[in-house]
Amino acid sequence: MADRGGFEALDACVHCGFCLQACPTFLATGDEADGPRGRIELMRALEAGELAVDDPAVRIHLDRCLGCRGCEPVCPSGVGYGRGIEAARALLATRRDPAPLARAALWALTTAGASGIVYALARLLRATGIPARLAGWGRFRFAMGMLAASAAKGGGGRGRSVKVGGGAPRSNLHHPPPSSTTSPVLLFRGCVMDGLFAHVHDATVRTLEVNGYAVREVPGQVCCGALHAHAGLREAARQLARVNVAAFAAGDEPIVVNSAGCGAMLKEYAHLVDAGPFAARVRDVTELLAARGPRPGAPVDLQVAYDPPCHLLHAQRIADEPHRMLAAIPVLRVASLPDAAQCCGSAGLFTLLEPAMSRAVLAPKIESLRAASPHVVATGNPGCIMQLGAGLAAAGLPTRARHPVELLDESYRAAGYYA
Ligand code: SF4
Ligand code: SF4
Repeated sequence: MADRGGFEALDACVHCGFCLQACPTFLATGDEADGPRGRIELMRALEAGELAVDDPAVRIHLDRCLGCRGCEPVCPSGVGYGRGIEAARALLATRRDPAPLARAALWALTTAGASGIVYALARLLRATGIPARLAGWGRFRFAMGMLAASAAKGGGGRGRSVKVGGGAPRSNLHHPPPSSTTSPVLLFRGCVMDGLFAHVHDATVRTLEVNGYAVREVPGQVCCGALHAHAGLREAARQLARVNVAAFAAGDEPIVVNSAGCGAMLKEYAHLVDAGPFAARVRDVTELLAARGPRPGAPVDLQVAYDPPCHLLHAQRIADEPHRMLAAIPVLRVASLPDAAQCCGSAGLFTLLEPAMSRAVLAPKIESLRAASPHVVATGNPGCIMQLGAGLAAAGLPTRARHPVELLDESYRAAGYYA
């Protein structure tokens, strides 16, 4: 049978429409073609050749899909929408180059060497405090808000995460766990996380070590390829996947990821390459911490709204573990937003490429946060932290967006696990 490249994942759709109310873009426009059921029809017609790849309806409505996969868990037929949309975008990319802005962003954010310079300049700009002052609505000001939102608490943060090495714990723990419980894990660094969220990598290493994991670096790893796959650049994503599978090939230790988008991509490498046992080794950081309890920390007196990244909740189906991790922080008050399952509108490059739809999807989330007025909105994905942080700043709200692991790290530091 011919390889259909992922379109076959759409075959199970029976047009029931149960997915419509879970789709942020359908809710934003009310247009059937901006919902999963309509898009599936467009994709089927595209595969069958009944619609041309340059058909404007195909382009507009598929481009406006966030790829959030909110339509998957609610589908009683088990439609694999995420696979289908990536197949459709890969087909579109064979006849249409990605937008120049998408190409430029991919080059700047994910190209080894060049991205290091881009991130260094971005960190310098962030450290001036200018992006925080310029944050607001409008393309440029929103981008400034996103950069400002990537900063560590207090606005600073070291430039690069300190590399851990040789399996030796790095944190000089004051209260180490029994050595009999120590198990090695390998850190996946990613590109945006490594470039702008060094403080989250450091917090990941420290909190894992408190819970008996010895975190090791893996040389030769590269970008996960998620942004490329979402843009339809499947061959580029495949090449990155091959490099990562080879880099992590030695050993069978868990591979820890603190970016939901990267984690979802890594867990689905088998769709791109012969990944062997790689995907089964990938764990979100909250999975590993929840598996160990985790050890309780000191009280942190904050009200937190937990907002799960779509690629954690819908793609990886991880719902309880972040809550179990946050439950290790005494006094912390955690509540989910009423629309927690809805996308924030970040969706990788979507926020840059489709700003109008992205902001329309973000708007109800910001209103939920305005009503809840937590101190912190916690979400485990760099794009979501930046999108929510920029939206909050533009709306003039004091709530800060942070990674959940940062909160546990703060609690552990206060408990004296490390200086
Ligand atoms: S994707 Fe699933 S929920 Fe949506 S219309 Fe098709 S079968 Fe129904
Ligand atoms: S992936 Fe998200 S935006 Fe796209 S159809 Fe599904 S729910 Fe809607």
